[in-house]
Amino acid sequence: MSLCLFGRAVSWKTPQACRRHSTYVAKMRYLFELKEDDDICRKAQSSGMFYLFHSLAPLLQKSGDRYLVPPFGASDLERFLGKFGQDAQKIEQSVLIGCSDQLEAWFALDLGLGNPSGSLQKSEMETQLQGSFTELRKALFQLNEKDASLIATAHSLLHWHECHQFCSKSGQPTQKNVAGSKRVCPSSKMTHYPQMSPVVITLVSDGTRCLLVRQSSFPKGMYSALSGFCDMGSPNHPPRCRVLPN
Ligand SMILES: [Zn+2]
Repeated sequence: MSLCLFGRAVSWKTPQACRRHSTYVAKMRYLFELKEDDDICRKAQSSGMFYLFHSLAPLLQKSGDRYLVPPFGASDLERFLGKFGQDAQKIEQSVLIGCSDQLEAWFALDLGLGNPSGSLQKSEMETQLQGSFTELRKALFQLNEKDASLIATAHSLLHWHECHQFCSKSGQPTQKNVAGSKRVCPSSKMTHYPQMSPVVITLVSDGTRCLLVRQSSFPKGMYSALSGFCDMGSPNHPPRCRVLPN
């Protein structure tokens, strides 16, 4: 028997594979529970780990010649929030971004969004946190694959919440659930979910070389393959793609 997981055919036959699959299933079940039950999710925050952002830029720390994204426990985070002039209630703004194999929940929190006046400036936070808030594109080039993937997920979700503070139907303020997997409008009862954006990435090659492109806004030396977003298509036509430097 085999299962197609993330586009890969995997076999159930070995004990290791079975363990891997049962861990995966346990994680998915736990994440589903956290998204559906505010009380369980709030409890998970007290024992979970938090990845910090400022105005959508992730906090990076340098370790030797490489960079990492430091996770903070709830008690450390509360201590830092106190130093930053922010209330521990700020933790309510965090969003669930995953969990470990041991079912330790991971959250992301943006310290820069909705900052009350009187709180510390970004540079002062960086000094306290011994890191630097780094623009996402630059950060992705400096992190390993696992951290880069986690930070990209967190960035997308935080950005979605920032842009969906108000209901698109009634214009009234929306409220996020504890996990941040949805926002609900108390006025019109509409539930808003983060949307998926289908994209295509293409590597153009002549066999030995590949075509790379860059935008003027890219950092020096950064190039990418071509990518495009799939637009909504009409019933008679396949989706159209707008191709841009990635
Ligand atoms: Zn509404």
